[in-house]
Amino acid sequence: MNNVILSSLLFVSSTLLCILVFYGIRRREIQGVFYFSILMGVMIIHSVGYACELLSNSLTQMYLCIKIEYIGASFYPFLIVLFAREYTDERRFANKYLLNLLLVINTITLILVYTNAYHGFYYSSVGLDFSPGFPILALKKGFWYTVQVACLFFSILYSVIILSIKLKRSSGNYRRKVAFMLIGVMIPLITLMVYMSGYGPVYIDLTPFSYFIMSLFIIVGLLRYDILLLAPITHEMVFHSIEEAVLVVDQDDFLVNFNAASKVYFPSLEKIKIGQSVHLIEELGDYDFASKQRIYEARGRILSFHVISVRYNYIYVISDITESEKVKKQLETLASEDSLTGLYNRRHFMELLENSNGGGTFIIFDLDHFKTINDTYGHMEGDQVLIWFAGKLRECFQNQVACRYGGEEFAVYAENLDGQVAFHKTELLREALHADSSRAVKVTFSAGITNFEKENIPETLIKADQKLYEAKAGGRNQTRYE
Ligand code: GH3
Ligand code: MG
Ligand code: MG
Repeated sequence: MNNVILSSLLFVSSTLLCILVFYGIRRREIQGVFYFSILMGVMIIHSVGYACELLSNSLTQMYLCIKIEYIGASFYPFLIVLFAREYTDERRFANKYLLNLLLVINTITLILVYTNAYHGFYYSSVGLDFSPGFPILALKKGFWYTVQVACLFFSILYSVIILSIKLKRSSGNYRRKVAFMLIGVMIPLITLMVYMSGYGPVYIDLTPFSYFIMSLFIIVGLLRYDILLLAPITHEMVFHSIEEAVLVVDQDDFLVNFNAASKVYFPSLEKIKIGQSVHLIEELGDYDFASKQRIYEARGRILSFHVISVRYNYIYVISDITESEKVKKQLETLASEDSLTGLYNRRHFMELLENSNGGGTFIIFDLDHFKTINDTYGHMEGDQVLIWFAGKLRECFQNQVACRYGGEEFAVYAENLDGQVAFHKTELLREALHADSSRAVKVTFSAGITNFEKENIPETLIKADQKLYEAKAGGRNQTRYE
């Protein structure tokens, strides 16, 4: 192969790397991708520099190319560790001290390459060799070269180990994605190791060529598995940090995955493995997976299920709504009840009337001379009388809707009682009040009864009021029915 072909290959691989850099920059919000782009950018500088080196024919020109190459190549150790750290989110070992150390060593490398003519620390000798058929540089390694190589080996080792650990920890599709990334990154690294150890072709550095293979590999990986789009580690971290239980179940009801919170929700998951039936979750005993039930109540808990269908799998997002349901009920009670008597308040009562089936009777009660009771016994005692009356009303109209209609006014909607029966019942209530000797303060009431017409509720209320007025005018302590 001649130098023109070799350098053309390098230019092609640089173009491919450029695509990766732009792809990475566009997707830089995904963890690790920004550093991936920088790493690729550095590889481009190295490749282009080396392509020029192969095309040069004087020592000065070639060394100038080496200087260009090293603008990129010097920083491999630093960037490899940085990328692996960001991609896998491992920051304990690859902390800022280690990164700073690598950056300092790599910068010294670059300086020494530029000033090598004065000291020979990086290359102890620089000459030309014509044995491949075209001139290439013959370089003897100086002591700092060894330092830089050691650094590189270290960073390779680190990234391989950390990616392998992540590979072991991930599962399913994620595992494939990490594996792809690991192999992709390892191609140039292995080539580099071969070159450094002296087993490769004597004078040709194969590393830049391996970028070509790697970039093809990663592009295929990107298209097939979308390696960077769904950075697997971040994806898993998000999955496990969700507070709701998330179960991924396939169409045959086998568990594909579940997050950490699921085990808190369903402790029986501790014994269940991915791939086993979702019906083994004891806490979900009779949950109907077929109908994707939205609310499931069991063992004193209310669970809400949000089911998402994704490519033959179902994702169940489950949240515990026991507390919020309790609060909701309390609020509903507060909004619908009269705080003194515990009967429905007028607002809620009117809603019930509007939503009723219609028919039956409407009764309005007004306590007689209640003002006098207040004036004589005090407001507190008046309140007790109201509570007492409400209790009697509830007892008497057990299956009907009763409410506190106003201050000392009450109302009953008796859906299944006709006027005569309702009249009879109010008279029973009157007797019950009279007969009750538990209270020193006695009270009587007047009542008006009318047939309930759902189509004309305001008319019904006015009629009942008229009947009540008649009862009052007739001397109080009596019931009037139209
Ligand atoms: P009538 O027989 O004509 O209905 O006479 P009344 O005194 O019952 O009627 P009026 O409308 O003049 O007075 C109603 C009284 O009810 C006045 C008000 O202070 C009293 N009242 C209203 N709400 C409450 C309450 O929550 N507690 C107490 N203790 N008294 C109340
Ligand atoms: Mg009144
Ligand atoms: Mg009154």
